[in-house]
Amino acid sequence: MDKIVSLCKRRGFVFPSSEIYGGLGSTYDYGHYGVLLKQNVKAEWWRAMLQERDDIVALDAAILMHPRTWEASGHLAGFTDPLIDCRTCKLRFRADHMEQSACGRKPSKHPGDIPDCDLTDPRDFNLMFQTTLGPVKDAGATVYLRPETAQGIFVNFKNYLQFSRKKPPFGIAQIGKSFRNEITPGNFVFRTREFEQMEMEYFVPPDEAPKWFEHWLEQRMNWYTELGLRPDHLRLRAHAPDELSHYSSATSDVEYLFPIGWSELEGVANRGNFDLTQHAEFSGQKLEYVDTASGERYVPHVIEPAAGADRAALAFLVDAYDEDEVGGEARTVLRLHPRLAPVKVAVLPLVKKDGQPEVAAELHRELRVRMSAEYDEGGAIGRRYRRQDEIGTPFGVTVDHQTLEDRTVTVRERDSLVQERVPIAELADELERRLRALWSSPKLAGV
Ligand code: ATP
Repeated sequence: MDKIVSLCKRRGFVFPSSEIYGGLGSTYDYGHYGVLLKQNVKAEWWRAMLQERDDIVALDAAILMHPRTWEASGHLAGFTDPLIDCRTCKLRFRADHMEQSACGRKPSKHPGDIPDCDLTDPRDFNLMFQTTLGPVKDAGATVYLRPETAQGIFVNFKNYLQFSRKKPPFGIAQIGKSFRNEITPGNFVFRTREFEQMEMEYFVPPDEAPKWFEHWLEQRMNWYTELGLRPDHLRLRAHAPDELSHYSSATSDVEYLFPIGWSELEGVANRGNFDLTQHAEFSGQKLEYVDTASGERYVPHVIEPAAGADRAALAFLVDAYDEDEVGGEARTVLRLHPRLAPVKVAVLPLVKKDGQPEVAAELHRELRVRMSAEYDEGGAIGRRYRRQDEIGTPFGVTVDHQTLEDRTVTVRERDSLVQERVPIAELADELERRLRALWSSPKLAGV
């Protein structure tokens, strides 16, 4: 993980937030390549949810919602973690994470392991951030930063039935920021207090819920493996009965083998009709589906695949990180799926003279309207290749003296290091073909 954190900082993927003021506990800023990577992760999620299906529609709900939402959803009363304070070292711990926590004064020990640790009893701590709507700070104006995007979907269910002409089974998908005042954030962007979720609520006839639950488990696992996560680093873990939320009849986590061990990447839950029933009760509105032909009416059940964009981006980075040797020199390389790579192609003149920079710059201008492309003429060619390898650029295009004679360029592949000559006239089509091709991590084959 340390290597990933340092690469992210060095190459402008992720920085600690407000760093010049010493940072702010577990908040991060995405730099240029991090923005492009996370953007690609989200675009692939939209592609799988919207573009390649016709039963799902999109939503972008407000972060601030009516406070009754959180009463109905159960978050106000129940979105809590048990918290233990140490009066000696003044640190706070999650009562259910004591085994993974370190004592403030003796980090090699767990809290409570040394005699002068003075721990409080566990107390419930609500994870929602509060703020005030409008200038008057009274109870009526208290609102919350949403701790999940899902509730924005449930409160819009009625709008969607009316405008979208969809009937169950159908889904509403949303990507957006969520906020949780986590007691023990950490492990880089794995657990932060502000993060982006990619959630979809799939509304189904009640008797079809088990079938759709299985469907979404399979779909979501496939999404990660098709984008290159190594299957042996990915698994499904079904929640034990005592782990399930009170409303859920089944939940499975997609887990990835992070450097911190197997950890949740995404949760897929069968939420039954809990959310729609609660919001119907609290709002006084009917939230049900009525079949106009048969007159049948029911409250749909909901299957929810809930993923984190930051955690997914971190998993892709971890899975892609590799070190090898090229021409006797060490190189760091991100073996990202080409569709996730922040930059698809780097255009490099072999030397900074003889008209090569002009041809390369022109080629770069042509390519960048079709894909994310970079132009780099600074430094030895080997160093420029390595800079691109480090940010995961799958293709390097080199303009050399032969280019000026026959209008061909060299295409170098990041993983195989194979170099081929391709006519400039065919280059963009050829690169797009390669970007669409099936891909699996070369780390699997041990390149
Ligand atoms: P965890 O058990 O790790 O706290 P959770 O079960 O509370 O997660 P969900 O409420 O199911 O998480 O949220 C769905 C997804 O949102 C998670 O699988 C994760 O990818 C992401 N997520 C949740 N909390 C955070 C966080 N604090 N930082 C980054 N991503 C998060």
